[in-house]
Amino acid sequence: MRIAIISDIHSNLEALEKSLELIKGLGIEEIVCLGDIVGYGANPNECLDLVRQTTSHILLGNHDEAAVDLDKMAYFNPYARIAAEWTNQQLKDEKKVFIQGLTPSKQIWGLDFAHSSPFEPEEWHYIITAEDAQQNIPAFSAPICFFGHSHIPGIFCEDSTSREVTRGKKYLINVGSIGQPRDGDWRLSFGTFDTDSWRYENVRSEYDVKKASSKIRKAGLPKMLADRILLGR
Ligand code: ZN
Repeated sequence: MRIAIISDIHSNLEALEKSLELIKGLGIEEIVCLGDIVGYGANPNECLDLVRQTTSHILLGNHDEAAVDLDKMAYFNPYARIAAEWTNQQLKDEKKVFIQGLTPSKQIWGLDFAHSSPFEPEEWHYIITAEDAQQNIPAFSAPICFFGHSHIPGIFCEDSTSREVTRGKKYLINVGSIGQPRDGDWRLSFGTFDTDSWRYENVRSEYDVKKASSKIRKAGLPKMLADRILLGR
């Protein structure tokens, strides 16, 4: 079975629509969303609707959590805080209830999925360095844990060196971000995985980023949030 793993959409409808169009063309059978559907961008309700229509499993992200409970954004930077408050005002009540029912990690088809990290997933730790990854390897039981949160795609193997995914070793795989990549490449990012052949691929694609950026400005959200998606930082 071929699955797609999408994460960190951040209310970017243009990037989400383009990703789903690509996924359709790839013969994908199931889509897992690792959370942070909302926060930063201009279309929270539309993105949540589309994710619910198209994916089979959805995890909670820290921005989803903050958008429905503003007490949870104490550690947010000022831009994230403004976006969370704006999103909280925009989100329909039914959608808030849906978000409140989500969890930050899950095991599906013998694979682990977490928004931020398998170790204390509700604490929203970041896995950025090889050292972070090594500390997290014992925290999950499946051969692979897919995650997001840092918006930086990458593969970490328990042996610290392998980049190719093969059976018999444990991996942490960051699928990157659909709506706000931060690795210096503005193109949307998601992962595809074949549960039979064990083949993993990171997909990058251009999308109508100018439209998404201008919608952020028009919504009255911080200009910095409109600018950063053009840069991928
Ligand atoms: Zn995020």
